Amino acid sequence: MKTIINLPKYADKLPINKKKLFYRLYSVQDDFGLLKLPEEMKPWVKKKFGSIKAVEKQKIIRIDNNITCETALFNELRANVPINMKSDSEVKKIIKDQEGGFFCNLDSQTANDVFGRIIGDKSKTASNIAKYDALHGIVVFDKHNPLGFKEKDVSDYFKTANKWIKEANAMDKKRVYPYVLWNCLWRAGSSIVHGHMQIILGKERHYGEIERLKRFSEGYKIAFKSNYFEDLYSVHEAVGLGFKKNENKIFMNLTPRKEKEVMIIGSDLESVSSAVYKVLKAYLKLGVQSFNVGIYLSPLDNSWNFPLVVRIVDRGNLNVKTGDFGGLEVFAGTSVIASDPYKVFEKVKKSF
Ligand SMILES: [Zn+2]
Repeated sequence: MKTIINLPKYADKLPINKKKLFYRLYSVQDDFGLLKLPEEMKPWVKKKFGSIKAVEKQKIIRIDNNITCETALFNELRANVPINMKSDSEVKKIIKDQEGGFFCNLDSQTANDVFGRIIGDKSKTASNIAKYDALHGIVVFDKHNPLGFKEKDVSDYFKTANKWIKEANAMDKKRVYPYVLWNCLWRAGSSIVHGHMQIILGKERHYGEIERLKRFSEGYKIAFKSNYFEDLYSVHEAVGLGFKKNENKIFMNLTPRKEKEVMIIGSDLESVSSAVYKVLKAYLKLGVQSFNVGIYLSPLDNSWNFPLVVRIVDRGNLNVKTGDFGGLEVFAGTSVIASDPYKVFEKVKKSF
């Protein structure tokens, strides 16, 4: 099976044009981290990591996106760092115990937007009680269990979100910059244990990361007379990390924000929902319990055009107390990644 550790080999073997394109977008460095273990530590290291050699000489792959200046560091050894895990049954119990809360009693226990509620087949909207931004809605799933969604459910959530965006924009025409987010359970920043997504609608300019990506892609077009998003997908597909399904392009981000990042480039919320569901289905099979989905959408006034971009990331085991974002991620624009994108890709592709 392919591994991210061998990425430089795959890139170097590409046909010349693809290889050029790959290295236009990415820089890859591989190096070894060396250390010496005292004899006393060796039995423990052998037990934890399976090999003394693999610890004393660790291969590290650094990938940089040359356009956006995002950096990822891959070290397979980190995947084997011991963690204390509680059983799934404890997580299931916490989810079950929270049944009957605010979101289970939506009509009386959640606020209404001033334009009312959007009622879907499997979800309803509420107004966020403590708003991120002036227009901030919640798509509350009919199902309590945040991990219990099916394909039809996700399709309805996206439809409902889309309707909310239209209603909210009709109420305030200046608010044209939508961002849709789905934080699943507490590791992903969700404070309420009940399935829900959120939508904010900004004005004057898009939210920071999306605005930045727009600027980078515009600069890319000027410098290379080419479309950044198409080239981004093309190089991922070339190194065996992307595929197309209907109008959607699905790939493992080479500079992931955090573990197992999948990106989907699509056209609109409703036609991308099935692909998002299938990625999440693969996630659940891989044991993911907590995830973020973020959806970049073009401004509603068509003042500029952007493909729809979905980013999905695993936020780690719900029972682990250590946070997954440290100083490297928070301030250095660099993520240290344990999971191998090629292994995750196999599972994601199988899900389609
Ligand atoms: Zn509930």
